[in-house]
Amino acid sequence: MIYDEPLYRPPSEAYSLIIQVTIGCSHNKCSFCGMYKSKKFRIRSKSDIFRDLEEMAARYNKVRRIFLADGDALVLKTQDLKDILLKIKELFPYCERVGIYATPNDILRKSPEELKSLNEYGIGIVYLGIESGSDKILKGISKGADSKDMIEAGKRIVNSGIKLSVTLISGLGGKDGREEHARESAKVINEINPDYLGLLTLIIEPGTRMYDLVQEGTFKLLSTEEVALETQMLIQNLELRNCVFRSNHASNYFSLEGTLPHDKSKLLKQLDVVLNNIEDYSGEYFRRL
Ligand code: SF4
Repeated sequence: MIYDEPLYRPPSEAYSLIIQVTIGCSHNKCSFCGMYKSKKFRIRSKSDIFRDLEEMAARYNKVRRIFLADGDALVLKTQDLKDILLKIKELFPYCERVGIYATPNDILRKSPEELKSLNEYGIGIVYLGIESGSDKILKGISKGADSKDMIEAGKRIVNSGIKLSVTLISGLGGKDGREEHARESAKVINEINPDYLGLLTLIIEPGTRMYDLVQEGTFKLLSTEEVALETQMLIQNLELRNCVFRSNHASNYFSLEGTLPHDKSKLLKQLDVVLNNIEDYSGEYFRRL
């Protein structure tokens, strides 16, 4: 099997077998994202996907987790996804979970019944990049969806029985939008109540529209202290029921991890320590990029 690189997967799929069912991202317009800029979006043929699955099963069929790449494989028609999931069941009898990236619009194109049936066929987790709960910021980054869409898409996954893992990006509102980003993001996350919430920190990639805005001075990046203050406001405003929170990605200046609501005060105390010693966390070398 030969991957069409670059290849991306969520950190929690590090030990999964990755099968590309699409190449690139069907949206590919977010101003900060350079992940799939080198790829023209296409859906791979079922025969090519089945060939990859058969080749990998012949080598080792005791795989427990499979991740369907690239950027938003949930864009596939439900019946095509079911065919792939049936093939996975046939070839990988020990597979316990199939994961997949989705855009909000991929989810909204599927009915609640379709999503429930995908769960029955093996989709166990959907990864959704919410990025921000602020409509102004979502529009500014060309996410292609507003906060209402995000809430509806997120709830549809939660109600389908599929686990939902969402991400927000710290600093996405720049200096001017810091408080709005924190407040509005918390509102959207509270409405959805996902199983997992990951908080990344904005990385500026050359070749993206966001990079140009930073270069021309239109978009002002947050200092480490402002990232910590934004994170503090976000956590203060989160009212969740049993959500695993992680902000320990390579993009983050400082590491936070806990389950909400149980660890809320612990996380806020850790942020106080960061804020009281901010010079110890300031510097790009803290990000393992
Ligand atoms: S939807 Fe995701 S993968 Fe596609 S451009 Fe936006 S951030 Fe990148």
